[in-house]
Amino acid sequence: PGNANASLPEAAYATLRRTFGFDGFRGMQERVIARILGGEHTLALMPTGAGKSLCYQIPALVRDGTAIVISPLIALMHDQIRAARAVGIRAASLTSVDVDQAETVQALRSGELDLLYVAPERANTSGFQALLSQAQIGLFAIDEAHCVSEWGHDFRPDYRGLRDMLDRFGDVPRLALTATADEVTREDILKQLGIEPAGLIKAGFDRPNIRYAIAPRANQAKQIADVITRTPGAGIVYANSRKGTEDLAAKLASTGRQVRAYHAGLPPEQRAATQAEFVASEDMVMVATIAFGMGIDKPDVRFVIHAGLPKSIEAYYQETGRAGRDGDPAAAHMFWAPSDFAKARQWLSDVDEARMPSERARLNALAGLVESAGCRRKLLLKHFGDDLPEPCGNCDRCLNPPKVRDVTELAQKLLSAVYRTGQSFGMGHIERVLLGRDDPRVIERRHDKLSVFGIVGTSEAPLLKPVMRFLTAHEMLATTEHGGLALGPEARDVLKGERAVMIAEPPKAKGGRGEKSSG
Ligand code: ADP
Ligand code: ZN
Repeated sequence: PGNANASLPEAAYATLRRTFGFDGFRGMQERVIARILGGEHTLALMPTGAGKSLCYQIPALVRDGTAIVISPLIALMHDQIRAARAVGIRAASLTSVDVDQAETVQALRSGELDLLYVAPERANTSGFQALLSQAQIGLFAIDEAHCVSEWGHDFRPDYRGLRDMLDRFGDVPRLALTATADEVTREDILKQLGIEPAGLIKAGFDRPNIRYAIAPRANQAKQIADVITRTPGAGIVYANSRKGTEDLAAKLASTGRQVRAYHAGLPPEQRAATQAEFVASEDMVMVATIAFGMGIDKPDVRFVIHAGLPKSIEAYYQETGRAGRDGDPAAAHMFWAPSDFAKARQWLSDVDEARMPSERARLNALAGLVESAGCRRKLLLKHFGDDLPEPCGNCDRCLNPPKVRDVTELAQKLLSAVYRTGQSFGMGHIERVLLGRDDPRVIERRHDKLSVFGIVGTSEAPLLKPVMRFLTAHEMLATTEHGGLALGPEARDVLKGERAVMIAEPPKAKGGRGEKSSG
């Protein structure tokens, strides 16, 4: 659906077949290309793998003049240029690492370039704009356009400056492209880049072949090894730090799979070699930081695992979107812990006052996703403004629906214990107090004299950790500098009984997996 009324000149179809060797357009490509060929500014919102590049490459070849492509990363540009040249497209970039800049400038002036890639920093210089006025420009493509918005997860101030250049060449159609933009970001992109609302072309965001699963982290290496062992094919494991990738890669070697670590600290040659190896491999597991995967063309990635909390729902969608681009079944697993939220909130306290509300909203949305008892896909798509009428049947919640349980009273007890013990103790101590353990650490501090001592029965004990996770994720609990628990800004409503706390009932421990095994 959605291709209605797109009528393209025969040259576009001929180029698709001859240059790219494809039989037909996919999804929204036809509509986007039709608009650009018709000279209309457009924002194309398409999920990763939908084929955004083709949307500016075809107009670049069909229209007179050179297409100027704004791209945020040199590595990304060079990947794209390599791929474009491989099919005979005349593509080049002007970046600090290009030694052939003089030739590129000459080629641009004499109309011998189809695509010219530049970073926004370069595009914004007066020198570059003077150069543009000596050339014929066919279109502007603004890749990763969410970088223009402060609401996006990757704000790049230099993207803001692009508007000047775009307006100076106001007749040249502009095509902004992104895979990730919620409604606020989307509207901001339109505004910032001067594209009318009708210029928004949005593809369906659902990736039905990806099975989503999200679970609390208990024994990270074991949980991830389990997934890897039962999921054949190549996959990516995202860790949050360079050291994290190396540690985890070492531990996962015991799965017998071919495991590699990848991060920005490795020598460039090694990175390039590892990446090439991964692209060619059918079973390699790459443990990497999130920089890995951007611009990699590997359609048969069978799984993506997040070893910790991603930055946002959008980042999660984009990173998991690297799985199953060939349309075959693929899996996305996330293992998160309350400490991930605690760290993110700590980091939050350092961000700009003005950005605080949106960053908080981003974290809260993420909390909603990881703790949701309902269909993951429904929630995910709702975030992008898509409505899934029925639960998807292909996520952990749909396949294994949890019982939802009202734990408001238990949450109140937990919050009270945190409060009465002085908001400085960790979860272990709080549990001992609530369960009435006559532990020396409890007695010594006279916490056995508190009204909250022993008010939780052993039958409810297994719920304490999940409740704590929920409370932390939703800012009802906060973590102090020293790792103790304190009341968060949202605690009050719960304590006053004005807000109910509902959680997905933890799975019964079986086969050594699940809550019990963790502690
Ligand atoms: P995106 O940038 O949206 O993530 P790409 O532009 O990298 O996606 O394209 C993803 C893959 O789909 C590439 O391998 C590309 O060659 C392929 N592709 C794009 N358009 C088509 C099409 N119309 N038919 C077949 N394959 C396509
Ligand atoms: Zn579902």
